Amino acid sequence: LIDGQSPPWYPSPRGGTLSTWAESYNKAHRLISRMTLVEKVNITTGTGWAMDLCVGATGEAANVGFPALCLQDGPLGIRFADHADSFPAGITVGSTWSRELMRKRGEEHGREAKLKGVHVLLGPSMGPLGARNPAGGRNWEGFGSDPVLQAIAAAETIKGIQSQGVQATAKHYLGNEQEHFRKSFEWGLPESLSSNIDDRTLHEVYAWPFAEAVRAGVASVMCSYQMVNNSYACQNSWLLNGVLKDELGFQGYVQSDWLAQRSGVASALAGLDMSMPGDGRFWQDGNSFYGEQLTLAVLNGSVPMDRINDMAKRVIAAWYQVGQDSWESQEPNFSSWTNETVGRLHDAATDSDETGIVNHYVETSTSNSRNIARRVAHEGTVLLKNEESLLPLSYDLGEFNLGRKAKVIVVGEDGGPGKGPNYCEDRACNQGTLASGWGSGATEFPYLIDPFVALHKSFDATGVELARALNNKLSKADKEKIKQQDLCLVFANADAGEGHLAWEGVRADRNDLELQKDGTKLIRDVASLCGGPVIVVIHSVGPVIVEEFADLPNVKAILLANLPGQESGNALADIVFGRVDASGRLAYTMGRSLAEYGETAPVLYYPNHIVPQVDFTEGLYIDYRHFDKYNIEPRYEFGFGLSYTDFEYSNLTVEALKDKSTLPAPRPQGLSAPQYQNTPPDPKSCLYPDGFRKLKKYIYPWIQKTSQVKQGRYPYPQGYDIERRPSEAGGGAGGNPSLFESHVKVSVDIRNIGPRTGKEVVQLYVSFPENMSDPVSGEAIATPMKVLRNFDKIELTAGQTKTVEMFLTRKDLSYWSVIQQNWVMPENDEFTILVGRSSRDIQLRGIY
Ligand code: BGC
Ligand code: BGC
Repeated sequence: LIDGQSPPWYPSPRGGTLSTWAESYNKAHRLISRMTLVEKVNITTGTGWAMDLCVGATGEAANVGFPALCLQDGPLGIRFADHADSFPAGITVGSTWSRELMRKRGEEHGREAKLKGVHVLLGPSMGPLGARNPAGGRNWEGFGSDPVLQAIAAAETIKGIQSQGVQATAKHYLGNEQEHFRKSFEWGLPESLSSNIDDRTLHEVYAWPFAEAVRAGVASVMCSYQMVNNSYACQNSWLLNGVLKDELGFQGYVQSDWLAQRSGVASALAGLDMSMPGDGRFWQDGNSFYGEQLTLAVLNGSVPMDRINDMAKRVIAAWYQVGQDSWESQEPNFSSWTNETVGRLHDAATDSDETGIVNHYVETSTSNSRNIARRVAHEGTVLLKNEESLLPLSYDLGEFNLGRKAKVIVVGEDGGPGKGPNYCEDRACNQGTLASGWGSGATEFPYLIDPFVALHKSFDATGVELARALNNKLSKADKEKIKQQDLCLVFANADAGEGHLAWEGVRADRNDLELQKDGTKLIRDVASLCGGPVIVVIHSVGPVIVEEFADLPNVKAILLANLPGQESGNALADIVFGRVDASGRLAYTMGRSLAEYGETAPVLYYPNHIVPQVDFTEGLYIDYRHFDKYNIEPRYEFGFGLSYTDFEYSNLTVEALKDKSTLPAPRPQGLSAPQYQNTPPDPKSCLYPDGFRKLKKYIYPWIQKTSQVKQGRYPYPQGYDIERRPSEAGGGAGGNPSLFESHVKVSVDIRNIGPRTGKEVVQLYVSFPENMSDPVSGEAIATPMKVLRNFDKIELTAGQTKTVEMFLTRKDLSYWSVIQQNWVMPENDEFTILVGRSSRDIQLRGIY
């Protein structure tokens, strides 16, 4: 199934083939016809790490008025910026299952980016998918362990960001599922690891969210650090030219992750359009695989003119596509490298003394954006246990009927402020309340409302006496105090992050799924000491093992608040006091042990080869699909979460809108991309301008002498001469448009039969026919027992009924046939349509 090899796919498909991008391509064409070769190279190459104000910056094409672009992280807010929001992380967003909030958070993120002068946001993250390695360091940046949940959240986020005129980036393409060995030199290895993924799994699982990102119109895609099937993701022609640009019809540009590029000519031919941050093998040594080297490669024919034209055109078209030509200012108004008002304009260019006002401290956070941040955090909080309906609490705890003040305590470091939210670089330490993971996907918190503060503000002081012990090591006095309490809230967490940073023994990927800082012991101690019921609150980057306390008799309630961002405490209080319903649902399965997730679930912590090899042999069977296949009862299943009210499902109808048919319609003919004259210019036109002052280590597109142009082009990669036929699965944004036609309409009535207003997440799963076989080869086709294909979240007042309608497309009802290289719908057998409250709580079934 997995041969660990990546086939060649050349030449790189040109952009400009889809009508939805035609106008932007026409404008880009007009601009580019007036551009010189060095200008084209300049806009495809970063100027070097920390050379300009953003984490990535391209050069400009001043003569035609095309600006230097500012690229900035990241998925949950604007990194290294001030006066901007720190929203809940992706995993919290996924746990809301709310398309509305996914979109709104994206809008706010984009709005803020525009006000800061950021052209390109480096997010959302949809890889790691986070399912095969539950301890993977960056899983929390994405939206959860299922391709469809991930895809819908990513697409809504992209639409939100781009509606504000800011380019979004779909990252990391593809297979960057663990941090260990993602980037070889970070780990002292000669090469990065190879994620070996078979064709069907790639299509049905890992590429699915990227397909939806392209369908949502994403401007940029970031290729990842590691190899896929033993070819680096940023020079993997099959992944970039084949899957992304041909099959998925991607019209924007591919940028490299930071130092993920490993070659010049080879990566250009394989489809990499932009080098980020421009540096080559090392940070800040002034060398690049693009820049001057790309100019030379074009001059001697190693990279065809046609290719550099397409690279530049993709970058320009994306800028037009989101309307950035109408921006008044094309410059960032903050510096990533200093908080002072006046600072260096080219921070890492050691011989530059140019300074200026670099921080304008533009306030971009608003009451609306803070409110969105809070709503995402509370709707992303999952109520896992609530015995005797302990939650929600009333403000004065009158329900405890004590006839005196109730004594309540908040226990655990995670319940309090610690040393402040921005104590460590890129948030790479676990201290105080956990509201984000670490790395480039973290931000400087403008503020962080901790749980204790918010609970204190909410409890009615005339009825409640609130105490605290905001540490994980309980003193004798703490223990005595806990015994006196009528109610105990205990907090614990688990943190992780990106590979360039470590915290204590956690080298980015977690070492296990345990709560950190002795959280499990703390919870057990509090449970055994507390004079009343115990509420456990967990902040975490991913699943944690709760076996040692979940069934303790006085642990009455467990809340998984994920990574809630700046509004943490307020959002938690919203749930605890029932100001809103508990409406989060798990974005991953919580197993009883790491072993339950299967043999391939542990991160590869020790290299197993010179080029570490990770075979994705579990294939499609990730997360709940794995638990289903091996009939393992998890602690809490994917999609699970309690509400404060109750819902009844009825009247399922499954209406066939179209008959089944094996294959999608033939690939539509796209527009033909315009041609250029294909002779490289005179090398003299590429020389540094007279009297130009070069900054040290800064990356430029010019060449020094014409004698640098060596005759004889670099040999093209193997397989370059094989004529590739366009994929039948392609022809539109995200794939063949016929794949996105609705075949089935599902409708179901949901009634709120409980006492109060609440929100329900209605989940639609599909079981493919049993005993399917491929119509061509006759080979048996196995599929997971069920796969999520759609969902909706609705609000209902007590007694109210609503009808929910959801659709299933051809793609939803097809598998990827490696033989036909197309999506195939089993035409003669029946699908079972499952509607339910979680992946294991199926309420109604129908047939298609
Ligand atoms: C990360 C990317 C990030 C980039 C820029 C890389 O190390 O993997 O996600 O966008 O740095 O900070
Ligand atoms: C930078 C990050 C970048 C990382 C790449 C760090 O030094 O702060 O932005 O993602 O290097 O490894």
